[in-house]
Amino acid sequence: MEASKRVIVSRAALVHNFELCRRQANGAGIIALVKADAYGHGMLECARLFADLGAAGLAVADAVEGVALREAGLAVPIYVLAGLAPQTVPGIVAHNLTPLVSDGAMLERLAHEAQRQKRVCTVHLKVDVGMGRQGALPEDFPELTRKALSLPAIQIGGMMAHLPKADDRNSDHSERARDAFARVSAVARGLVPYPLSCHLASSGALFYVADSRFDQVRPGIALYGCYPGGAAGKKSAGAPDLRPAMSWTADILLVRQVPAGHSIGYDCTWITKRPTKMAVLPLGYADGYLRRLSNRGQVLIAGRRAPVLGRVSMNLTVVDVTDIPGVDAGDEAVLLGRQGADEITADELAGWMETINYEALCLIGRLNRRVYQD
Ligand SMILES: *Cc1c(COP(=O)(O)O)cnc(C)c1O
Repeated sequence: MEASKRVIVSRAALVHNFELCRRQANGAGIIALVKADAYGHGMLECARLFADLGAAGLAVADAVEGVALREAGLAVPIYVLAGLAPQTVPGIVAHNLTPLVSDGAMLERLAHEAQRQKRVCTVHLKVDVGMGRQGALPEDFPELTRKALSLPAIQIGGMMAHLPKADDRNSDHSERARDAFARVSAVARGLVPYPLSCHLASSGALFYVADSRFDQVRPGIALYGCYPGGAAGKKSAGAPDLRPAMSWTADILLVRQVPAGHSIGYDCTWITKRPTKMAVLPLGYADGYLRRLSNRGQVLIAGRRAPVLGRVSMNLTVVDVTDIPGVDAGDEAVLLGRQGADEITADELAGWMETINYEALCLIGRLNRRVYQD
């Protein structure tokens, strides 16, 4: 059965964004971020597409995601960024995943397991140049590197760091962190008798931080067509024109006329000020159209803006179509994306939700049935 609502993912937009990132990367390899179900766009579909386009690697948050990619037949290097719990170590080794490692104890655990499986585990070492979550401090990094070198079942594939303010153009934090990373990576290259792949840049650094590319780059949000830093980030990125890959549409369930003074939705938070033609949409906060959008969000119908009336319910949302002629049940409402000459961007929707485009995409993409278009 065809659903009355759908998230549509444009493959053409994903390809366009990948190619744009590749141009920005200027020769550095692309590690495509597919964590969080590819920011809501579907991990397997996106991973296959980026691998086919020539991604040098894929990155996930958790080892479980990496195993799913291997089981789907993806053969490129897969980096496990965050979820390095002890119980994931056997699977990481067995599936040839590349964990990002911050400490000696984890190196020993990986080495022990690799020896047991008669394999070599390739790791990338993580240095903390200001994110303050994981990673060895710069002064401790040589010791971590020597530790890895001392373990025969460990191969150091490379090293990396992550920037906390890559989208903030008014700060020189990223430039200083980049210089710290360059210093640490030079020391590491001096210690390790084989080539290392060094990588620092997420989407923000790719667009805004000079000389941050090193050997590989790790774009995430840009592949999905949004700018880190939202609408302001888009302006300051200048030329590059990313294309949003996700849109979200629903078919109107019902159009009704109610008189002035009529209450709409739970808690009667909207009382009509005039005779009102309202349209009922088949989705609500259970689908990620957050309750915060009550009396605040807008959708596109016939290319025009229809404001949300009253509370968003669990599975229903009411919008005002009084000023839009000819609206019928079955007509399409756009909650995210373009319709006619107008567009509701992830940044605009996220603003109403009091969050950032990243969170809006993850939430909406994962809660809704996805349809892929070429
Ligand atoms: C999520 C993530 C990225 C990608 O960040 P974007 O801002 O989405 O480009 C890069 N590196 C690491 C370590 C990450 O966790």
